[in-house]
Amino acid sequence: TQNLSTVDPEVAAAVDAELDRQQSTLEMIASENFAPLGVLQAQGSVLTNKYAEGYPGRRYYGGCEHVDVVEQLAIDRAKALFGAEYANVQPHSGAQANAAAMVAVLNPGDTILGLDLAHGGHLTHGMRINFSGKLYNVVAYHVDPETGHVDMAEVERLAAEHKPKLIIGGWSAYPRQLDFAEFRRIADTVDAKLMVDMAHFAGLVAAGLHPSPVPYADIVTTTTHKTLGGPRGGLILARQELAKKLNSAVFPGQQGGPLQHVIAAKAVALKIAASEEFAQRQRRVLDGAKILAERLSQSDCADAGVRVLTGGTDVHLVLVDLVKSTLDGQQAEDRLHSVGITVNRNAVPFDPRPPMVTSGLRIGTPALATRGFEADDFAEVADIIAVALRPELDSATEQSLRDRVGLLAKKHPLYTEL
Ligand code: PLP
Repeated sequence: TQNLSTVDPEVAAAVDAELDRQQSTLEMIASENFAPLGVLQAQGSVLTNKYAEGYPGRRYYGGCEHVDVVEQLAIDRAKALFGAEYANVQPHSGAQANAAAMVAVLNPGDTILGLDLAHGGHLTHGMRINFSGKLYNVVAYHVDPETGHVDMAEVERLAAEHKPKLIIGGWSAYPRQLDFAEFRRIADTVDAKLMVDMAHFAGLVAAGLHPSPVPYADIVTTTTHKTLGGPRGGLILARQELAKKLNSAVFPGQQGGPLQHVIAAKAVALKIAASEEFAQRQRRVLDGAKILAERLSQSDCADAGVRVLTGGTDVHLVLVDLVKSTLDGQQAEDRLHSVGITVNRNAVPFDPRPPMVTSGLRIGTPALATRGFEADDFAEVADIIAVALRPELDSATEQSLRDRVGLLAKKHPLYTEL
């Protein structure tokens, strides 16, 4: 019955400090968001105590009548939101959703075709020391060096040459939409399954602001904590014919007991994601990213070699290319951190600098949109970033940027209810 600050003051202090960091700085890591209070409450609930191996109505433990309700709500909401025939809400994370999806349709040694990590793909799409790279024979496609867009001619050529069993569409760092119909066409030419990992853009799909992969892909995987704005976790959608294989690949294939507290939080997030308010928020996410791309391209940091990859964005993030800048990715990330803006450095395609340093930044707008940022706020953020990324930054200017960040954070308070 002891509360956190009594039983463990050290952890309590770190949690408080993290809340203060989230409230007082501007979060622009493209894969992050702020879960609403209802999601936090579900995730911090007594459902964490319950073992529920199996699926609703078919459990290996007693006492599952209430978690059955919760899991069925999550499943039904996921299917309705994305127009899918089947949903599995148990994967503990995006990586585990992908692992289960691959186990369901592949055997070790089979060939997969995914976007190269260095060109914006995810670790689970075939990186050498990830399970995907160790278990499967990986062939990678790339972006076109001129346009920065995924090279669909290369996808078709590699598919014809290597006959993959699975083609993976989806990305962690890419500022454009993929052509799901073209992926489907290519997959069909070699009888491959198509999996789309929409982890990054699932919220945009839910809001109807990004094409849905669901009608085209055999399997769609996602995380629930990025644009979707829910708890950390994974989700699998698919056609009904794959239901049995996917269910058994998740449990008992990859996981034991599902995290019912997280599943409850997923259910809450999926309900919110079906609302008009959520759709409006996603519109501000997209508008904010466009404003960021435009202003960074036109500012004087652009004269100092700061470029926007592909010249803009269709999604919730902007990729900044620093190949021609004297600042590398690490220095640029540190600069923004010092004025109170959190981003992550990110390799750009054909990056000349090493992976721990990189020549790029990935800057996302979902978390700030959740805070209530509107177009004029995003314009101000863009201008702050543009000044911070000039080659020289004196301490007076740095302080003025910090003050401007502070004003924005005050204007849009976060978690006042906590
Ligand atoms: N898939 C994509 C496209 C991602 O960007 C990520 C996370 O960054 C994942 C999967 C993995 O999600 P998690 O970190 O929950 O394992």
